[in-house]
Amino acid sequence: MPAVAMLFYLLSSVLFILGLKRLGSPATAPSGNRLAALGMLLAIVTTLVYGEILSWGFIIAGVVVGSGIGAVLAKTVQMTAMPQMVALLNGFGGGASALVAAAEFLRGSAAGENILPNVSVSIQLSVIIGAVTFAGSIVAFGKLQGLVTSRAITYPLQKILNGALLLAVLVLAGWIVTGEARIDAFTAVVALALILGVLSVISIGGADMPVVISLLNSYSGLAAAMTGFVIGNHGLIIAGALVGASGIILTTIMCRAMNRSLANVLFGAFGAAAAGGGRIAGVAGAVGDRMVRQISLDDAAVMLAYAKRVIIVPGYGLAVAQAQHDVREMADLIERKGGVVKYAIHPVAGRMPGHMNVLLAEANIPYPKLKDMDEINPEFERADVSLVIGANDVVNPAARDQADSPLYGMPILDVDKSHHVIVLKRSMNPGFAGVDNDLFYNENTSMLFGDAKDTVGNIVQAIKEL
Ligand code: NDP
Repeated sequence: MPAVAMLFYLLSSVLFILGLKRLGSPATAPSGNRLAALGMLLAIVTTLVYGEILSWGFIIAGVVVGSGIGAVLAKTVQMTAMPQMVALLNGFGGGASALVAAAEFLRGSAAGENILPNVSVSIQLSVIIGAVTFAGSIVAFGKLQGLVTSRAITYPLQKILNGALLLAVLVLAGWIVTGEARIDAFTAVVALALILGVLSVISIGGADMPVVISLLNSYSGLAAAMTGFVIGNHGLIIAGALVGASGIILTTIMCRAMNRSLANVLFGAFGAAAAGGGRIAGVAGAVGDRMVRQISLDDAAVMLAYAKRVIIVPGYGLAVAQAQHDVREMADLIERKGGVVKYAIHPVAGRMPGHMNVLLAEANIPYPKLKDMDEINPEFERADVSLVIGANDVVNPAARDQADSPLYGMPILDVDKSHHVIVLKRSMNPGFAGVDNDLFYNENTSMLFGDAKDTVGNIVQAIKEL
């Protein structure tokens, strides 16, 4: 690569870093996204201009097909399905890295080349990490899409088997690097790495899936960086390292938000427990021998209209119902009547990190009104009404005080400390983690059943008529 190409790669890396930095705040995120995209364009053009092109036909076909699929997905995939899409993209990234490294290995082997040990190590690492990422991401996609059970699948000696598989892969790869083994051993490495990817992710379930997606994202970056070493592409090394590092930082932040260690997420088989018992969808009133209180739409509207301090807790159901614009209208009406409305944002509310921020920003809800968990939790005890809209796990007090709950240890929004709680959902069904929620049975909690968009729209009408 000529020096000018290196310079362009460096420039594109600077754009990636500035882009990532700007992604840190919702206000600057769109421009950060554009900067990073510009960096990627520069890196691609640099590779095309200064790289050794074997077939323009394949490259143009790849660009047309890839961009076409990307554009359709960007336009059609629902916000609630973003985690699955990210899982697929991670998988394809890891798979592509593994394929490039494997092609380099097969080419060198066929030509009888003596592959240098440093390149050989990079090839093996790229293939192993890429194959694990690909297979693991496809399983994660299947779980989030509901194609396979989202629960953790456990069986005897699971950890030992996974550990033995990893050891076997590393020993085989080491054997290849020393130059003594070739194609058969390489095929075995690829096959075992794919199996390892599947087995590592099927044992993770429930609310731990976002952490897994983030970790797989980090893996895909590491695989890309290794491939960068294999083909001597500095842009790929830096971009891969950035993805690897940012993925692991996000993973750590999410683990902290759930008060879990990464080891516990990976090996704890969270979500393997049975769901909260015997619920019947759509039934309000008695559930088993426990009672829930219902509130009428008009009473809820009166309570909200005359409250001084209202905290809205958005969750996955708000995103499903696409009720963000109605929520904004309702909040405006409450504020016009003299109340103060804030939004409590749990780090894993919804189905992807930052889901609620993006959703509420879509309705132009001002950022200063969006409060992080640590900031808003002390305010719940002063709140007249907390309105929980389509959130469940992130307000489940079992996470605080039931040691046998799968949610135990996950920090939650302390909604139950408010003077009054109104929970808006369609039925008594559990949330993502599949566990019962004691909040719904508390004396200060009232349930308002229905689709979030319909219900909030009706509350808006009712407040207008007051
Ligand atoms: P939950 O999944 O716990 O609960 C969502 C609730 O929304 C359900 O109880 C459901 O009840 C209700 N709901 C669904 N559709 C509607 C609708 N149209 N109108 C009204 N209510 C509706 O959501 P939370 O946001 O509280 O928690 C997120 C969970 O997802 C956590 O367990 C988290 O770990 C996990 N997760 C988070 C990711 C992230 O990165 N943020 C990614 C993947 C998983 P009903 O059916 O009765 O209406």
